[in-house]
Amino acid sequence: MTRIVVVGSINMDLVTLAPRFVAPGETLTGDRFLTIPGGKGANQAVAAARLGAQVAMVGNVGADAFGQQLYDGLKAEGIDVGHVRRLDGVGSGTASITVAGGENQIVVVPAANGRVTPAQVEAAREVIRGADAVLVQLEIPLDAVDATLRVAADENVPVILNPAPAQRLPAEWLHRVRYLTPNQHELATVLDDRGDTDFRELMRRAPCPVVLTRGAEGAWFRDGDDAPRHQAGFRVDAVDSTGAGDTFNAALAVFLGEGLDVAVRKACAAAALKVSQLGAQPGMPRRDALDAFLE
Ligand code: ADP
Repeated sequence: MTRIVVVGSINMDLVTLAPRFVAPGETLTGDRFLTIPGGKGANQAVAAARLGAQVAMVGNVGADAFGQQLYDGLKAEGIDVGHVRRLDGVGSGTASITVAGGENQIVVVPAANGRVTPAQVEAAREVIRGADAVLVQLEIPLDAVDATLRVAADENVPVILNPAPAQRLPAEWLHRVRYLTPNQHELATVLDDRGDTDFRELMRRAPCPVVLTRGAEGAWFRDGDDAPRHQAGFRVDAVDSTGAGDTFNAALAVFLGEGLDVAVRKACAAAALKVSQLGAQPGMPRRDALDAFLE
C-alpha cells in the first residue's frame, strides 16, 4: 500500500447559494446553505485515502464544533489523525463561499491553519520517514512548509509541492521539491513572471520538474531536460470542478511509483471523475471507480 503524508489546511466550507451577489450594506435572501469539509490539505488527504493509499494528515482544527466534525470526518476516511491537533482558543479554518450564477466569491479565514508550526512538522518526522511521498500546499504558514521540505529531504522522501493559493516562494525551495504542481497562473507567480509568457516556456525555466494542470485540457509535465509533454484531459460531463486540482495532486502522489507518465494519466482520470460529480470531497472517486473508468 502506498503511504502518503499530507501537511496542510483543514477547513469548513460555508457555502451559500444565492440568486446574485450582494452589494455592500445590502441584505439578500439566499436559496440554500451548506457546510462542506474542505481545505486543500484535507481535500488531498481524503482523495488519496479514497484512491487506496494509507494516509497521515498533519494539520490543525480549532476547539469548536467544526473542528470536531472535521476531525471525525478525516478519521472516518481511514486517515491517521495522530498529528492533527485540536487547538484551544482559536477557531477552525473556514471558507465563506457565495455561489451565484455559476460564479463564486470566497473569503478564507485560516484560523487554526495559521498555527501549523515547524515543531509540529518535526514531531511528525517518524511518519514522514515511512512515507512514499509527502504532499504540501500553501494554505499553512510558509515556515511550516519550509520545515516539511527539510524533514522530507532529511528522510529522503519526495515532496510534491502544490503552490496554491499562488504566492511567491523562496527560490531555493524549487531545488528541494520532487515535483511542483501549479496551474499556469501559479507557475507564473512562483517564477515572478508578469504572466504573459507561454506556459511551456515557464516550465522550461523552472529549476525543478513541473506537472502543470490545464483544466479540461489535462496536464503538461516535464522532468529533467526533456521538453514538456502533454496528457490530454478525459472527457466527462463537467458538473463541478471544485477539488479537481486536489484530486489530481493526490492521485499523482499515490501513483508516482508507477512512473510519471502513468501517474499523470491516472491523475487526469481521477480529476475528471471528480469534475463529473458535485462537491469537493463528496465527489472524489474511489480506487475501483478509477480502475473501471480506465479499463
Ligand atoms: P485548478 O483548479 O487547481 O486550477 P485545473 O482546473 O487545472 O486545476 O484542474 C486540475 C485537473 O483536473 C486538470 O489537470 C484535469 O486533469 C482535470 N480537469 C479539470 N477540469 C476538467 C474538465 N472540465 N474535464 C476533464 N478534466 C478536467
